[in-house]
Amino acid sequence: MIGPVMHSRALAVLGGEPAFAEPLHVGRPNIADRANVLSRLNGVFDRRWLSNEGPLVLELEARLASWLGVKHCITVCNGTIGLELTIRALDLTGEVIVPSFTFVATAHALQWQDITPVFCDVRPETHTMDPASVERLITPKTTGIIGVHLWGQPCDVDAIGALARARGLRVLYDAAHAFGCTHAGRRVGSYGDAEVFSFHATKVFNTAEGGAITTNDDELARRCRLMRNFGFTDDDRVDYIGINGKMNELSAAMGLANLDDIDAFIDANTRNYRAYREGLRGIPGVALVLHAENERRNHHNVVIHLDPAQAGLDRDTLRDVLRAENVLVRRYFWPGCHRMEPYRSHFPNAGLLLPETEHIAARVLSLPTGSAVSASDVATVCEIIREAVRQADSIAATKRR
Ligand SMILES: *Cc1c(COP(=O)(O)O)cnc(C)c1O
Repeated sequence: MIGPVMHSRALAVLGGEPAFAEPLHVGRPNIADRANVLSRLNGVFDRRWLSNEGPLVLELEARLASWLGVKHCITVCNGTIGLELTIRALDLTGEVIVPSFTFVATAHALQWQDITPVFCDVRPETHTMDPASVERLITPKTTGIIGVHLWGQPCDVDAIGALARARGLRVLYDAAHAFGCTHAGRRVGSYGDAEVFSFHATKVFNTAEGGAITTNDDELARRCRLMRNFGFTDDDRVDYIGINGKMNELSAAMGLANLDDIDAFIDANTRNYRAYREGLRGIPGVALVLHAENERRNHHNVVIHLDPAQAGLDRDTLRDVLRAENVLVRRYFWPGCHRMEPYRSHFPNAGLLLPETEHIAARVLSLPTGSAVSASDVATVCEIIREAVRQADSIAATKRR
């Protein structure tokens, strides 16, 4: 976590001291009931069993599979390794189509194994992959599609599944944002050939570092399990190339305790999301990314879209104003993977094919939420945004000076 940083007060809009004495972060970890965590940790120390298919990892895998409604759950040491393992277990090669508007790990997991990520565009309403854009990018070298359930909004899994079946492609979903989110009433976790979750500290459900691969495919699950443990099929027999992707017992203890409290975390996020929706209402040029009301959402990512023409100030200026008040918002996922290395050098003109990605990436901000953020904190953040837009002309004058 970034330490306390005091930003220039020049752009402050509320006057006096910064609105928050302590910085308000995006992605401050949710921490389960401490007695629950500590008693589980004591069990780990009593058993002196710290890793390698320990009892808590097995318990967590069973509980997650049942909670997510999927046959197999294979925990891993982080979400990125989970993506890399699944990509290899699915035998993906050549080119794989993936959105550019995601955390860079989604693309890196491919490039790390010399598979070319081919970047598709996203839909403006949901920010998830546009199946029409995917279809246009399929070539004879394409072997798969990786969709990202961005901000916890599931991809159009029906259209993507149909396209993949018609073209003989494998489908993997990066579900790092979508723990507990539903599509057609069914929790994310069993769509496509497999899905991968991240349980990083900053996610709604965390194990400090960790993740999981979920699938209904028995053979794929078997391969992922073997590859997670160096490819060992017996004490000293190795049948596959593998890696060390195991989750440890301390992380599993954290995960079991956090799973006990997951409803409370999601309730806090839902309360904050509704408070943002109220607090931002009617501010010119500021639109909260809204979620379907008939599906379950974790509301872990609260995202606004700023139209600079209507608001009178651009996204980066609003970010500076919020920072001056100690609200450390983030520009997820600016500037898009296609403008990061090595992809920028590989595809210098990729942006021409990604108009929505370029448009959205320059206009969104992620706002603080989570169990460490109260409804009154949210009201204050909304007030700062409202004042920033009201004072847009004088802010522009301050910036020119
Ligand atoms: C967090 C995240 C990851 C990476 O997960 P780690 O557990 O940090 O390796 C991958 N994809 C997306 C979209 C993420 O937000």
